[in-house]
Amino acid sequence: MRVLLVGSGGREHALATCLARSPSLSALYAAPGNPGMASIATLVPLKADDVAGLVRFAQEQKIDLIVPGPEAPLVAGLADACAEAGIPCAGPTKAAALLEGSKAFTKDVADAAGIPTARWERFEDEAPAIEFVRRRGAPIVIKADGLAGGKGVVVAQSVEEAEDAIRRLGMPLVIEECLVGEEVSLFAFCSDDKAVLIGAARDHKRLGDGDTGPNTGGMGAISPPPAFGREMQEKALDIMVRPMLAEMVRRGTPFRGVIFAGLMLTTEGPKLIEYNVRFGDPEAQALLIRLKSDLLPILAALAQGNLEHAAAEFSDEHSISLVLAANGYPDAPKKGGRISGIERAEAVPGVSVFHAGTTLVDGVLVADGGRVLTVCAKATTPEEARKLAYEGASAIQWEDKIFRNDIGL
Ligand code: ATP
Repeated sequence: MRVLLVGSGGREHALATCLARSPSLSALYAAPGNPGMASIATLVPLKADDVAGLVRFAQEQKIDLIVPGPEAPLVAGLADACAEAGIPCAGPTKAAALLEGSKAFTKDVADAAGIPTARWERFEDEAPAIEFVRRRGAPIVIKADGLAGGKGVVVAQSVEEAEDAIRRLGMPLVIEECLVGEEVSLFAFCSDDKAVLIGAARDHKRLGDGDTGPNTGGMGAISPPPAFGREMQEKALDIMVRPMLAEMVRRGTPFRGVIFAGLMLTTEGPKLIEYNVRFGDPEAQALLIRLKSDLLPILAALAQGNLEHAAAEFSDEHSISLVLAANGYPDAPKKGGRISGIERAEAVPGVSVFHAGTTLVDGVLVADGGRVLTVCAKATTPEEARKLAYEGASAIQWEDKIFRNDIGL
């Protein structure tokens, strides 16, 4: 099969690594890809959200399957354009991607499907929203309805803070009951009403140790989260994902792709916080290094709507992904530092390194973005996985390297 992978981060490098192992693969292209993928894929200078360009390339190159990594191409309608051109795509249509794009849509689907989630209400005007939080009191959660790059949610600890958030975020809004508990992310390959479990992870969004500092795209992840093993993941899939898939089919907008369900483990059981319509980054890296099955036939089946014959086997090891970022991230990451030691890191048993914000300047690898590399490790215990990942991370050097010291503690 000839495959076009879309995206340029660590998540896509991990996907590329799995795809490159497939006996069914005859050619792998990555648009735009990154230097880490260059030895296993042909890099194509097209942006991830250039839908027309990607489809044109896929037609010219007789691509058999498009694999989108990030959400941008999905929200821009890549799967819809692929359907029109008759090219299988392992990601959801624009209509199904609304599960990530609109909080109110997700809540509506969850209610219709009987999925446990925080009680909520949608507002189009400021006055009734303010009246509502005054009546309900704090803590309370205020969410912008659309995509806001992780900046659209305020967990308000006082009514005053809630009112400020309402004014700042603007309309439309979703206001939710505040849930308390540990958060876990659940991942599955989905196609129409079928779901195949991938696994679960816990991510660390804040920049600094002890979950301090600004929100980022993610600084590290562990998989599985403590006390959320395979059996609980399968149970959660039945409660949190399969009813949603059935509801999407009923609405005439079936979901095909990787679902990422954000859950809160409350004293009343797990409750849905959100869906994303793709793998998380860096969760994907921690999950995919444990994949034993051939990824390509699974994604091909998912795209064609016959996932019932697919099996995804993962090793029962523990894994961790640790992001090496550039000083100044997330606001103003320092670029240009010369990177060394990746081979030494990968010589540590169980360690893999994935590229994200790297580039080649005159044949030298340099840092070129916020999140630069992800160092991942797997082992039979979480402690050992953590030790190996940090050993790998310390082998890699460049001037402006920063990372969290407490991932997996
Ligand atoms: P991200 O980009 O981080 O995934 P998002 O903008 O899509 O976030 P959500 O995932 O819905 O928004 O919320 C972000 C975070 O806010 C959650 O990870 C959770 O910690 C917190 N949160 C959201 N909803 C609730 C809730 N009802 N009760 C308590 N905390 C919540």
